[in-house]
Amino acid sequence: MDAYNKYEAVIGLECHVQLLTHTKMYSSDIAEYGAIPNTNVSVVTLGHPGTLPVVNKKALEFAVKLGIATHATIREHNEFARKNYFYADLPKGYQITQDKTPICNGGYIEAKLKDGQTLKVALTRIHMEEDAGKSLHDIDPYDTLIDLNRAGTPLLEIVTEPDLRSGEEAYAYLTEVRKLVRYLDICDGNMEEGSLRCDANISVRLKGATAYGKKVEVKNMNSFRNVQRAIDFEVKRHIDLIEKGETISVETRSFNAEKGETFSLRSKESANDYRYFPEPDLQPINVSKTYIEEVKKTMPTLPSQLFQTYTASYHLSEYDANQIIENKEIAAYYDQIIKHTSNYKSAANWILGAIKSYLNENAVHINQFNIEPNRIAEIICLIDENTISSTAARETIFPALIKNSSKSPKELATELDLIQNSNSNELQDIVNTVLSKFPEKVAEFKNGKTGLQGFFVGEVMRLSKGKADPKLLNQLIQTSLNN
Ligand code: ADP
Ligand code: MG
Repeated sequence: MDAYNKYEAVIGLECHVQLLTHTKMYSSDIAEYGAIPNTNVSVVTLGHPGTLPVVNKKALEFAVKLGIATHATIREHNEFARKNYFYADLPKGYQITQDKTPICNGGYIEAKLKDGQTLKVALTRIHMEEDAGKSLHDIDPYDTLIDLNRAGTPLLEIVTEPDLRSGEEAYAYLTEVRKLVRYLDICDGNMEEGSLRCDANISVRLKGATAYGKKVEVKNMNSFRNVQRAIDFEVKRHIDLIEKGETISVETRSFNAEKGETFSLRSKESANDYRYFPEPDLQPINVSKTYIEEVKKTMPTLPSQLFQTYTASYHLSEYDANQIIENKEIAAYYDQIIKHTSNYKSAANWILGAIKSYLNENAVHINQFNIEPNRIAEIICLIDENTISSTAARETIFPALIKNSSKSPKELATELDLIQNSNSNELQDIVNTVLSKFPEKVAEFKNGKTGLQGFFVGEVMRLSKGKADPKLLNQLIQTSLNN
């Protein structure tokens, strides 16, 4: 395996982010997923002579939002360009994109690796463009069918520097991209439906070398795991070839998820010359400083900011904070709970424990969860003031609340007879009963077998039908035994 350790992988990713705008990038056609094929296709989408494109203002705003969130430099003077190529799903014969003047330059996205390290991935550029239509090869056995609904839908392409060094890093980066676009509400991040797509550029070089090796580009991966698998496969393939003294052919490859292998699609020699030229039908767009400031005011709280608040102000562990932030709606629910309690840790435990288990086991989305966040806060308060035990809360009151969310936790606790006994006179009586029942054990305890305290607690609990306040109970037992 030594041969593999001599090399390092070099990876750059190109992500296509399909924007959640109501209409398409340069026309008023509806940009929705899953419509009846070829229904959202006007003469502008089809590029009929005499039609003119108009830039979608919302798409521009989304691009600026992403630029702000990635710390990029946002360009003032934006031009559009035609990227020409012939393909059946490209009705105009060209795509309107940004060539030399991408709206965003530079910036970075920070991702978390499994070992807790932070990975800072530098971005080269983000540009606006439109999608092509979709060729459907697997519906008709003889013909390829074309659906042009997707033609003209708005995309942002995020291109990274060749900064990634493994499939795992690529996976972590993509997870962060998806989280970011979801928090920004600019893309649903659904890779299976193709609203987030990724091409991976991969090469290897000897460790310590400064020049890059020859790269291949891998396409058609429909999950982050498959991007990781495709990269791992390619890296190994490259090293094996180099070790055998063979050269890497610069080409575009595809990934077969069943076999876990990549295969050649086309070599770069036959690659298209796109004959970019400025789009004559669109005025350049000016993105002013004032406009950027206005968009800044509408920015939601981003995952990195939440992480900061959760760890620094709420003192959650980094792990817990990340678990909550992973999902925007879960984080929003958490934020609602802690409006009603300042027991941040307990709120996190409820989300990551009972609530998430319930959601997972019953395939319920947090948005459909029927317990109001303030009810969870109420449960936390009842536990904190020793009115109910945490076991009773988790095992009885929480399930009861799911069944009947119109009642308050306190009402349910009363109905279910779960209010803890915090009456020290009553409890002392039970403690006395137990201690006089087991004189030998009391003697053993006094001779140093202090581990028996648990036994006494258990007995009192049993007699109190589980309702003794454990804190008070422990105190009473300790005092009684040490007298
Ligand atoms: P192309 O002209 O083939 O499209 P670009 O220079 O536009 O290549 O880069 C596309 C992506 O490939 C970027 O994410 C970039 O970081 C990455 N990349 C460039 N060179 C290499 C390399 N030698 N190995 C791996 N990735 C690379
Ligand atoms: Mg490129």
